[in-house]
Amino acid sequence: MISEYPRVRFAPSPTGYLHIGGLRTALYNYLFAKQSGGKFILRIEDTDRTRYVPGAVENLISTLEWSGLHYDEGPGKEGEFGPYTQSERLHIYKEYTDKLLETGHAYCCFCSKERLDDLREGQKARNEQTVYDKHCLKLTKEEVTAKLASGTPYVVRMNVRHGSKVLVKDIIRGNIDFDTSIIDDQVLIKSDGFPTYHLANVVDDHLMKITHTIRGEEWLPSTPKHVLLYEAFGWEVPIFAHLPLLLNPDRSKLSKRQGDVAVEDYRSKGYLKEALINFISLLGWNAGDDREFYNMDELISSFSIERINKSGAVFNLEKLDWLNAEHLRSKTDLELAELLREELSEKQIPLDEKMDGEYFVKIVSCMKERVKFIKEIPVNAPYFFARPDSYEEKGIQKGWKEDTPGLLKAYMAKINSLEAPSKEDYETGLRSAAEENGVGAGKLIHPVRLVVSGVSSGPGLFEILDALGKEEVLYRIETGIQRLTKV
Ligand code: GLU
Repeated sequence: MISEYPRVRFAPSPTGYLHIGGLRTALYNYLFAKQSGGKFILRIEDTDRTRYVPGAVENLISTLEWSGLHYDEGPGKEGEFGPYTQSERLHIYKEYTDKLLETGHAYCCFCSKERLDDLREGQKARNEQTVYDKHCLKLTKEEVTAKLASGTPYVVRMNVRHGSKVLVKDIIRGNIDFDTSIIDDQVLIKSDGFPTYHLANVVDDHLMKITHTIRGEEWLPSTPKHVLLYEAFGWEVPIFAHLPLLLNPDRSKLSKRQGDVAVEDYRSKGYLKEALINFISLLGWNAGDDREFYNMDELISSFSIERINKSGAVFNLEKLDWLNAEHLRSKTDLELAELLREELSEKQIPLDEKMDGEYFVKIVSCMKERVKFIKEIPVNAPYFFARPDSYEEKGIQKGWKEDTPGLLKAYMAKINSLEAPSKEDYETGLRSAAEENGVGAGKLIHPVRLVVSGVSSGPGLFEILDALGKEEVLYRIETGIQRLTKV
C-alpha cells in the first residue's frame, strides 16, 4: 500500500467556473477521504496555458470553500507534497521526463506540424488509426543531439510498445483491457516546455502519494496511457474510480444549452449549499435504499465508492428544489436568521440599527413555511425591512371603511396601554377593541394588516406585529390613518 490512509485529490484545470460535475468529483473525493481518515488534496492543473483563465483558481477555491469541501492540502494550505499548482512544478516534470528519456520510455520528436498533419490525413484516408508513426524514434543519438543544439523545436513523446495489453482496474467499472496498438505515442512535454496533462497528472499523483484516483468518466480513455506511464517509471498504480456522466433529462450529456452548469449559478439563484451538496451526492450514488435527505455528516458516514453507479446520472432540477425546501425547514431559526442577514447584505438592502438578531429570528419564523428560498423573504415581505410607502388598492377597497380610523385609534389605545406586548397581547387587544366597538375582529384585522405591511396578505398578522414591535406598529398605524383618511 502506498499510504496507510487514503489520499485523494481533486485536480481541476482553471478554465473558468466550477462545473457542477467538478463539484460532484470533489464531493465524492472529499466524502471518501473524510470517512476513512484520509486526506483530501486540491491540485491545480494549469499546464495548458492556452485554456488558462485569470481569476479561475480563486473562484474555484472560494466555491469549494462555500460548499464546505475544505481541502487538507492545496494552494494556500501547503503540506509536505507542495507546491500544489502544476505551473510551479515544471522542474519536477523535467526531472522525471529526463528519466524516461534515459530509459527509452520517451523520446524527442522534431516533426513539423505539416508532417504531422500529412501523416494524420493519410491515415484517415486509409481508414487507419491516427497515431504517430514513431518517425523520430529512428533518429540516432547524434542526430538528436545536433537537432537539440541547433534549437529545432521539439516535443517529448511517450514510447508506447504496441502489440500488448494494458489493464486498467477500476472500482466502479471492473477490469478493462486496452490494446496498446491503439494508444498514441502521447506528447509528454510540449514545445513550450510545459508538460501535458498525462505526464503532470501521473507524476503528481505519484509524488503526492495519491492512493485513489477518483474522477469523471471522460478521463477513462486517458487511463491506459497513465497506467503505461506508471509502469515506465516503475511506480505503483493508484486505484481508479471513474464517475458516471451527468445527463440532461433527455439523457444527452449535461450541457450549458439545457440549463446552468456552473456551481456559482446555483449559488446565486439562492440554493442552500446543503441542498446542492445533497443533490449532487445522489448523482451517481445511493445508499441502496430510497433515502434522499442527507446532511454532510450523514453523507460522510453513508457514502461508499462501491455503490457508485456505472450508468449516467440524470440531473433533475425538481429534486433540487424539493431538497432546498427540505434543508431550509431543517434549519433552526437562528441559522435561517443568519442566512437572511447574509442575503440582505449581499443585495445591499439597507437596514435599521433596531433590526437585531431577535428581529431576524422573528422574521424567519413568520416566513419559513412560506418560502423555498431565503431570498424570497425580502421580495415577498419587504415591509419587514422598510415602512410601506403605499397601500395595495384592492386592500383599501375591501377593508377601509368610514369607521376604520376610529377603530384603529381604539386599537392603538389598547396597544399603548401595554408595556411590552406579546403576540397574544396584540391579538387580545384587537379582539377587545373590536368587541367594545361592536364590530367583528375582521373589521380591524384587514386594515391593520394593510397599514403595517402595505399589502393584504402574508403571514399571521399578530406575528408581524410582534416582530415589528410596539413603537413601529403604532407609528405605522398612525401614518396609515393619516394617509388613508380622506379629508
Ligand atoms: N485536470 C483534469 C480536469 O480538469 C483532471 C482529471 C483528473 O482528475 O485526472 O478535470
